[in-house]
Amino acid sequence: MGLVTAIAARQVGLRVLVLEQSASLPVKACGEGLMPRAVAVLQHLGVSLDGAPELAGIRFHDRGTTATARFHGTAARALCRQELMERLERRARELQVDLRRAHNLRDFSASSAGVQLRVSSPGGLLECSARLLIGADGLRSTVRRKLGFELPPRHPLRFGTQRHYRCTPWSSWVEVHWHAHAEAYVTPLGADRVGVAVLSHRRACKSEEWPALFPELMSRLAASPCERVRGAGPLEQRSCGVLAPGVALVGDAAGYLDALTGEGLAVGFASGLALVQRFAAGQLWRYPEDHRALLAGYYRSTEVLLACARHPRWRHLAIRLLSRYPQLFSALLAVSTGCPPPPTSRGAALLYRLLSPRGT
Ligand SMILES: Cc1cc2nc3c(=O)[nH]c(=O)nc-3n(C[C@H](O)[C@H](O)[C@H](O)COP(=O)(O)OP(=O)(O)OC[C@H]3O[C@@H](n4cnc5c(N)ncnc54)[C@H](O)[C@@H]3O)c2cc1C
Repeated sequence: MGLVTAIAARQVGLRVLVLEQSASLPVKACGEGLMPRAVAVLQHLGVSLDGAPELAGIRFHDRGTTATARFHGTAARALCRQELMERLERRARELQVDLRRAHNLRDFSASSAGVQLRVSSPGGLLECSARLLIGADGLRSTVRRKLGFELPPRHPLRFGTQRHYRCTPWSSWVEVHWHAHAEAYVTPLGADRVGVAVLSHRRACKSEEWPALFPELMSRLAASPCERVRGAGPLEQRSCGVLAPGVALVGDAAGYLDALTGEGLAVGFASGLALVQRFAAGQLWRYPEDHRALLAGYYRSTEVLLACARHPRWRHLAIRLLSRYPQLFSALLAVSTGCPPPPTSRGAALLYRLLSPRGT
């Protein structure tokens, strides 16, 4: 989110310094689906998506029942995280973003006049100042913690793990395979690569456990694991605000619920863009309302899916319902992605209006 926000800021002529604690390209666990809003923001910022396969929609599999829903609006894409980070960095450098790796933000003091930062770097402790500090520092955000914005989670803990497999994708859908203890998200990443992300309750689910949970899926992939397994969590992070004098939060740092809907990048990118637009217009105080509106559909649909994940019997009934009434699934996906179904799909368009959070 830091790079996306920095690119957006350079596009409106602001000077930006990006501090990244990692010495190498930071690549985190991700299902690697770019939902329609994420694609739209990347296109707006001039980030190339050449070669990123289009995703048709979402397909749920649960004990022999299958339900599918297509994406509406801009086509969703798949792009492995490493490639996404490389493309973002390339675009940021093209726009002369000052990007410093191995720079760890340690502390800051902020007021409405600006912010003083203390950063540890290979050259020693660095002090610098800025008009605004944007905390885009992920799930365990130092900036959120130092602002005192942390809130306890509302849901039982959940974790994510992810791995790539070298094999030809068998479909252009993001498949979600449900199990009582976990869900597997399968993303077709390219001609010879499939990504699998597993989300689980209580503790991270090791990749050695996947075959017992998803035997059919894993038998297709068994011979071809590649790259190391990445993990993340606990996923839910709550923040009591996204703006303080001289400081704003974006992305997971601003609060995150779960990866079930694959919307993390989309809502984070969109809020990074909104933040820059408000800052440039001298209306920073309006950013929290933008943030709330951008995340409302994501929170609503993720809450529904979390309830499904916790209650296998309800979930099975719900997936049978979605399988029988695809327009309902289409409307739910539209609420999650923030992309209304076309008016020609009248049932789905009506359900979308009923299910959308007010004010979005
Ligand atoms: C298993 C899993 C699957 C997912 N699948 C999808 C999906 O398919 N589609 C989707 O859109 N989203 C998905 N998400 C969510 C998505 O990955 C996140 O929402 C997104 O990565 C958030 O980006 P971010 O920039 O806010 O945080 P991060 O990607 O975590 O980046 C934070 C950066 O800040 C740096 N940093 C941290 N602290 C400091 C410090 N003190 N000083 C300097 N730098 C610091 C870190 O090194 C890191 O590079 C998934 C998440 C998980 C866990």
